[in-house]
Amino acid sequence: MSQFVIDSAFKGAASLIEQADAMVVESTSVLGAAAPVAFPDTAYYLPVIYGLTGQEVEKLGDLASAIGYARELLATMESETAVQNAGIASLIAAETIQGVRFARAEQPEIYHGYHFNGPIDDVQLRAWGVGLADGTISGVAAVIGAAGNDKVAAKIVRTLQSMGLLTLLCGNVNGRSIAEQLLQEGIELGYQTLVVPLGSDTASAVYALGYASRLAFSFGGIAGGDVKQLLNWTRQRAPVFVLALGEIDNLKCAAAAGALTYGFPLIADSAIPGITPLSAAEGQQIVSMPFNDIPGADDDEKAVFLVQQSVKVRGIKTKVSKLSLPVPYGPAFEGEVVRRGDMQLEFGSKGGTCFEWLTMKSMDEVQDGRISVVGPDPFTSEAGSNIPLGIIIEVAGEKMQRDFEPIMERQIHHLLNGAEGVQHQGQRDITWIRISKGAFMQGFKLDHLGQILHTRLHEEFGTLADKVQVTFYTEQDRVNELKEEARSVYRDRNERIAGLVDEKVDTFYSCTLCQSFAPPHVCVISPERGGLCGAYNWFDCRAAYEIKPLGANQPIAKGEIIDSARGEWEGVNDFVYQHSGMNVERFTLYSIMDAPTTTCGCCECILSIVPEANGFLVVSRDDYGMTPAGMTFSTLMGIIGGGHQTPGMMGIGKDYLTSAKFISAEGGISRVVWMSKSLKDEMREQLEEICQKGGTPGLLDKIADGTTVASIEDLRAFLQEKQHPALSMEALL
Ligand code: SF4
Ligand code: ZN
Repeated sequence: MSQFVIDSAFKGAASLIEQADAMVVESTSVLGAAAPVAFPDTAYYLPVIYGLTGQEVEKLGDLASAIGYARELLATMESETAVQNAGIASLIAAETIQGVRFARAEQPEIYHGYHFNGPIDDVQLRAWGVGLADGTISGVAAVIGAAGNDKVAAKIVRTLQSMGLLTLLCGNVNGRSIAEQLLQEGIELGYQTLVVPLGSDTASAVYALGYASRLAFSFGGIAGGDVKQLLNWTRQRAPVFVLALGEIDNLKCAAAAGALTYGFPLIADSAIPGITPLSAAEGQQIVSMPFNDIPGADDDEKAVFLVQQSVKVRGIKTKVSKLSLPVPYGPAFEGEVVRRGDMQLEFGSKGGTCFEWLTMKSMDEVQDGRISVVGPDPFTSEAGSNIPLGIIIEVAGEKMQRDFEPIMERQIHHLLNGAEGVQHQGQRDITWIRISKGAFMQGFKLDHLGQILHTRLHEEFGTLADKVQVTFYTEQDRVNELKEEARSVYRDRNERIAGLVDEKVDTFYSCTLCQSFAPPHVCVISPERGGLCGAYNWFDCRAAYEIKPLGANQPIAKGEIIDSARGEWEGVNDFVYQHSGMNVERFTLYSIMDAPTTTCGCCECILSIVPEANGFLVVSRDDYGMTPAGMTFSTLMGIIGGGHQTPGMMGIGKDYLTSAKFISAEGGISRVVWMSKSLKDEMREQLEEICQKGGTPGLLDKIADGTTVASIEDLRAFLQEKQHPALSMEALL
């Protein structure tokens, strides 16, 4: 380790501690020790302090002991623990500073008129957690400082985006933050584009470490204060690195020492005393790449090289598509919005017509790579036009099946959105596509949409799609005609899916994607119960297995039935036992009380027992309010996450609520006594249908929500007044 880095980190940590201490003292005298300290819409208190000390900081008065601990660490620096001590001390001090800023209502920060994101909230945490698990997000770059110039900043971030990295920005150089540089270059920032500015100073880097800590708590089931497990987990499972831009000062060194402790390497675009420049190998802790010395013909090439080296050092594998387009392409562009004023063309939307239909054909009917346009070229129309569009994708393959059509078709959304300047929404006959002026100016054409579909379908569905051809129709009459044809196919598909029940198949599928976060977790996916993240159903898994026979979705032969009411089979039990690291011996699909399914951090909803009401509550992830059980979604998640079984509680996907097998062992939907209002509203139609079918019409209005009851007493009174069926059902306990 470079002595310069150790000394500098020590000085940085010491100054952060002084600053934190002064802020706590001053704010306590103004606001009082009881003033609340919290990061909004996040669980786990101040997560770094919680993880490293187990302390649950909730008010200003709680911070003094955290600072005391940081001071102690600095005072007892042995040479072998020097960097770690300085790192932990500086993180605790930095998080204290941010906590005080929240107490003073100075966060999230507004800097030079720009609103920074601040801490990553729970919705972001989950979305990105799933992305990291399934590989759509390849890793996380924490960028501190600012690039030598705006163009270089843009190139670095564009490269990170096209490699599928989530980019968190913080810090500044001489008052200029990289967020400002990117805005200057017209780069869209925010949650949707995977480029998220945390704050304008180096202390806000602690939000990135807080994010890593919360991944470990919520996905890895690590407990607060279990430092060894926490750091083990982040080292092994959180693919994060720090890219420091601009001169390395004491504060950057202190932040980097904190990151190193978590196992995240530092890559700097400047010289660092004691570190050999331009040497970078996987696993190396500190890398110095003085920007001007980087090999390359121009700044763009140097920026790309810098990013490539950073990714290599952390051992991150990125998926790069073979596509060649006039605009950048990658998952970071998927959430980008094309506003009306920036729009060159649109297809579909109000008053327009646009549909997409992927259909299977025989090998001799498809010419691979053929892209045709039938009708006038929409890109010659005047800016702002709405043009009818029918997209027909014909796929042929030895292993292709009719049932895979809708699965591939559903991917169109994510495939097309990956192009910068293309916005795709909806599906089937409610598709809506916008192309930006920017993309048009760069030469983007209908043909490129075809290329994306052709190349990416091959990449994602290799062995199923031997041949792919794409035809675009742009004449209104022809589009209308074909749309009717497509509609009858959509109807047939709906009926086929609705008719499939668990009893009719011999094989279920597993999903073990989340084991990278929650090692014992296994999802068992049957026709009537999807994965708890809501992203995978039985058809998806079956196709995934065909595509990648050694992947995360494996067939499970149900075997002998043990109990049909609980949904327990020998084959499922054996499989789960083998694949949970022998942690889970029994696993039922229709019961929550007896050997329920395990829960990882991705679930869409949590189902939890309310003994006083002889039923269950369902709380949705986007509901930040309190449940009548006195716990929020996040608190409940903290109890059940990590891949364990917790009788009486489990994470579920929304779709399971409308399944005929929904906790049928305990009486099904009639057991639900409380539900998040947002869920009720969103799913009202399907829920009413299932209540009707189950012989309990009107049940939905007997289920309480956050707007009708606040406590257990309220809930009981509400249920009695409405004569909720759960009250007269067999006792749960
Ligand atoms: Fe994770 Fe289950 Fe979703 Fe697979 S189906 S990604 S294991 S939650
Ligand atoms: Zn998960």
